[in-house]
Amino acid sequence: MPEPTAIYKEPIHTNGTATFTSLPQNGKADIDVPVLMYHRIIDNRVAAKDNWLCVHVDVFDKQLRMLELWGYSAITFSDYYLYMQGKLILPRKPIIITIDDGYLDTYTHALPLLKQYGMRAVVFVLGDRGLHYNKWDEHKGIPPAALMNNNQILELYREGIEIGAHSLSHPDLSCLPKEKAWKEINRSKTLLQEELGIEPIAFCYPYGGVSPLVKQLVQESGFQFACSVFSGPAQFRKDLFEIRRITVRNKLTDLALRLMIPQKIITGLREGIRKNKRITEH
Ligand SMILES: [Zn+2]
Repeated sequence: MPEPTAIYKEPIHTNGTATFTSLPQNGKADIDVPVLMYHRIIDNRVAAKDNWLCVHVDVFDKQLRMLELWGYSAITFSDYYLYMQGKLILPRKPIIITIDDGYLDTYTHALPLLKQYGMRAVVFVLGDRGLHYNKWDEHKGIPPAALMNNNQILELYREGIEIGAHSLSHPDLSCLPKEKAWKEINRSKTLLQEELGIEPIAFCYPYGGVSPLVKQLVQESGFQFACSVFSGPAQFRKDLFEIRRITVRNKLTDLALRLMIPQKIITGLREGIRKNKRITEH
C-alpha cells in the first residue's frame, strides 16, 4: 500500500493555515467531523429571516470567517474516504460543509465566498437534469428558486467542490415502494456519471426521509456516505449511511453554539424535552 499523503492537499485557494492529525495506525476513522447543512445562500434579508432554509450572504461570510478563526478546515467526503483507507491525513479540525438541492445561488453567492476562505464543500444535486427549479416545493406555496445548470455544476466541481446525489426528483424515499426508491437513488448516481462525468460517492436523503430499506438501496448503489437531517447517531463515524447534520440558520451565534456544544448533548437535551412533553401531555 502506498504511503499516505503526508500533507493534506492544498486547499484550492489558500489563505489559511492547517495543522495535521497523525494517521491512526489502522487507517480507520477515529476523529469526529461536524457536518453542516445549508440550502440557500441569498441576498434578500427579509426572505433570509422568514425562511429557515435561507442564510443571508453576509451571515454566510461571517460564518465562514468564524470557522477559519476557530481553526476549522473544510474537507469533503472524498477526503474522508481516502483517510479511511489510510491514503490521506486529515487537518487537525476537519469540518464538512454541505449545501443541498443545487440552487443557482450556490453558484452565484456561496462559491465566491468558499473560494475566498479556501473552504471546500459538498453540494447535493438532483439527478434529473431537466429540473430547472424546486418543483418539489410547489405544493407548499414556496416560491420557485432556480437550480444550477450542468455547466455551473461542472465549474463548482473544477473548483474543488464535491458533487453528491440527492435522488432524481426529491421525493421522500421512505414513503416510496422499493422499485421507485431504487430508481430515484440508483439512477441519480448513473445520470450524474453519464451527463456530467462525475461519480458521486455521497448521497443525501431528501427531507431526511430514511428507512432501513432506503439505506440498504443507497449502499447497494455504491455510495459510501449518506446524509440525513435530524436522524442518525450523534457521532459522525458511527453510521456513515445516516450522517446527522447541523442545520445552519441565519444567525452567527446559532452556529457558534452548535459547534461549541457536542452533538450528543444536544441530542440528549432534545430527547429530554420530548420525554417531558410526553409526560405533561398525559
Ligand atoms: Zn433537498
